[in-house]
Amino acid sequence: MARDLGPVCRICRTEGQKLFFKGNRCYTTKCSFEKRSYWPGIHGKVKSARLRMSEYGTQLRQKQKLRKSYGILERQFAGYFSKALRGKGVTGTVLLQTLESRLDNVVMRMGLAVSRRASRQMVLHGHVLVDGKKVTIPSFLLKPGMSIAIRENSSMLNRTKENVQLATSRGIPEWVKVDVDKAAGTFLALPTRQQMPSDIQENMVVEYYSR
Ligand code: SF4
Repeated sequence: MARDLGPVCRICRTEGQKLFFKGNRCYTTKCSFEKRSYWPGIHGKVKSARLRMSEYGTQLRQKQKLRKSYGILERQFAGYFSKALRGKGVTGTVLLQTLESRLDNVVMRMGLAVSRRASRQMVLHGHVLVDGKKVTIPSFLLKPGMSIAIRENSSMLNRTKENVQLATSRGIPEWVKVDVDKAAGTFLALPTRQQMPSDIQENMVVEYYSR
């Protein structure tokens, strides 16, 4: 399964915001964006200072930020957009809800993994059960009511319990329920727009694909 393997801190610096690809490190002073919050590259500082973004450029950056945040390649992301266009409701919100209901994202939102990359790895390596059955597809779309757990004899079990405790102290979204002792949880409902990150400008993404 193809995925983007480039240096992730560069993505944060290009998009001008912390996107939390590296789990706990992102909350420390070791975060590259904290140290160098300008564009990557030898002329990054100059580029950041002079950059004047066109309307198209802004739409493109918003699309890239959203796509890269969820670790999705171009073609699959375009597929999600087409699906959202055909779905019921506001296209941008439906797109975000689809992205949020991916298995790798929900595992991360529940705090079982420190980042989407880590959660993707856990799913691919067969540590995650959905409704009691092993699922190894990170893009698997969950439906409300489905339960998630870590395999009982998994080598990751203790680490996920620690992750959940840490995530609980930082805050877990209301649309998932987590049992800290069991390192398991339930996907309660699709998140509303208010329950999803406010820094995403999904209308720009819709405009990008509507050109
Ligand atoms: Fe982004 Fe900082 Fe995390 Fe690197 S450490 S991925 S720059 S938030």
